[in-house]
Amino acid sequence: MTLPVRIGLHVSIASSLASAADAAHELGADTLQIFSSSPRMWRGVMPANGEVQAFALARKLHDLHPLVIHDNYLINLPASDDVVRARSIMAFHGEVQRAVALSADYLVAHPGSWREQTVESAIARFADSLEQATANLDTSGVTLLLECTAGQGHALGHRLEELAELELAARGRTPLTIGYCLDTCHLYAAGYDVATEEGLERVLEEADRVIGLDRAPVIHMNDSKTPFGSRRDRHANIGHGSIGEAAFGRMLRNPKLAGKAFILETPDEDDGQARDVNTLRRLAAG
Ligand SMILES: [Zn+2]
Ligand SMILES: [Zn+2]
Repeated sequence: MTLPVRIGLHVSIASSLASAADAAHELGADTLQIFSSSPRMWRGVMPANGEVQAFALARKLHDLHPLVIHDNYLINLPASDDVVRARSIMAFHGEVQRAVALSADYLVAHPGSWREQTVESAIARFADSLEQATANLDTSGVTLLLECTAGQGHALGHRLEELAELELAARGRTPLTIGYCLDTCHLYAAGYDVATEEGLERVLEEADRVIGLDRAPVIHMNDSKTPFGSRRDRHANIGHGSIGEAAFGRMLRNPKLAGKAFILETPDEDDGQARDVNTLRRLAAG
């Protein structure tokens, strides 16, 4: 049976890739996001062939698609520090290799930080680093999605225009197809009002004009622990934050977002993830 909207969540691969797929299915998901290695270690590990095959089988069995991989939190492609930048290029190279090996559809990445430089130079450096990280690499089937950020500290990409500029700078310099990932918590914290009915329409119109909604196949569904425009990145369970449950219903049922993969990255305390999947399913049904 094909469900009308695809709802999923970020699951841990700590025990194994296949058990992550099983866990996503048991929680009611039909799409999933994972880290392909530890998100807080520079050195990534390529999963063994047997693990990759078991994962593919579990995904097929549970009809879990698309597969989204979120990149490592340490990666900062535009870093002004040469050592951090070199490590980031190596680590991102590994991210793409693992995404291809796991037959991922999307690799979601935060653009990085413009600390100790200007936004313009960070955008140029991002494109240079991406070119180095993916030169002569087989990237078949994987689309890189630049995620909008809350704009905390010096995070690049809290304006949609910045995401578009990053894509423009990188265009033609990497074999990766580039698209975008919108995160509801990040949008709201960055000053895009997705919580109200009129606000959501305005934001979707703006997003369509600036980045093209057809190029944003994945929406991260997170409520926000902090108020509108706070520029802080704190995810809350659906209906437990400042965005509110009704807003998520409007997003799930909005024709402009039809066909997107809606993926939760909410806290799991007190079975929060299972509740959030159920809440999104109920809201999607209207
Ligand atoms: Zn993210
Ligand atoms: Zn996100």
